[in-house]
Amino acid sequence: MSRIAYVNGRFTRHRDAAVHVEDRGYQFADAVYEVIAIQNDRFVDEEPHLDRLERSLGELRMAPPVGRPALRYILRETVRRNRVHNGIVYMQVSRGVARRDHAFPAHRDSSLVVTARSTMPKSSARAGGVSVVTTEDIRWKRCDIKTVGLLPNVLAKQMAAEAGAYEAWLVTPDGDVTECTSANAWIVTAGREVVTRPPTHAILNGITRRTVRAIAEREGYAVVERVFSLDEAHAAAEAFLTSTTSHVMPVVRIDDRPVGDGRPGPLTSALQAHYDAHAGMAPEGGTETAGTGSAEA
Ligand code: PMP
Repeated sequence: MSRIAYVNGRFTRHRDAAVHVEDRGYQFADAVYEVIAIQNDRFVDEEPHLDRLERSLGELRMAPPVGRPALRYILRETVRRNRVHNGIVYMQVSRGVARRDHAFPAHRDSSLVVTARSTMPKSSARAGGVSVVTTEDIRWKRCDIKTVGLLPNVLAKQMAAEAGAYEAWLVTPDGDVTECTSANAWIVTAGREVVTRPPTHAILNGITRRTVRAIAEREGYAVVERVFSLDEAHAAAEAFLTSTTSHVMPVVRIDDRPVGDGRPGPLTSALQAHYDAHAGMAPEGGTETAGTGSAEA
């Protein structure tokens, strides 16, 4: 089956899908994006993702390419045409095509691209946990906006890949953890506090992060939003990361050191099960479809 992409009003074969060479997303990374998970044909947390897309657009004064009902329709149609039952739908909005000039063009013709593909979090990683490496967070000061300007994230993820790690945790010059290259970072302290960084401009306010936070509170855990240091993470009882594509992923090694006893902690595993239930995911041992398992979000 050939894959299908949506590009500015048309569904086309994925391999032929293209935007103009002077698309501002291509030239300036003047574009924002979202990724929504599909689990058993259901969109997971669709409205919060569409809210965040609107927010990203608003922060950059970019016009929405279509209204929300039309966008919902295009997303569904892309998923349907690609026969994705478990996977992701990716949407990207750029400030459109214009002669290269840094300032905004006079027109408000944003471009919209939507793709979809099958993927599932890797069950072995989910059960056994993953290792992460750490590197300096060299990103800009508006990481709350979900832009395609991801070069620091790309470099850090490549470093992780070369080290055989699943992710890189980004650390400020002061030694505090911000987040991962494509996920939010969490620790569980020895006192069983579930800690994640507050959603300031320093991180992307993950939709999974928000959902997991709400679940943890509902389950009666002590959730604290505060800055935590790499030293605290090294000394933590448990650690995990959250994202649309990784769900709740136990972190069992940070750099060369095991987290806790080097196995996924009980609180992490409980949150993972609750989140999977929220997402409508089949229990472990269920289907694992094509895909890398560490799909980017
Ligand atoms: N931080 C960054 C930098 C990300 O790219 C992502 C993934 N989009 C996240 C956090 C997690 O966000 P979400 O839970 O909405 O996928």
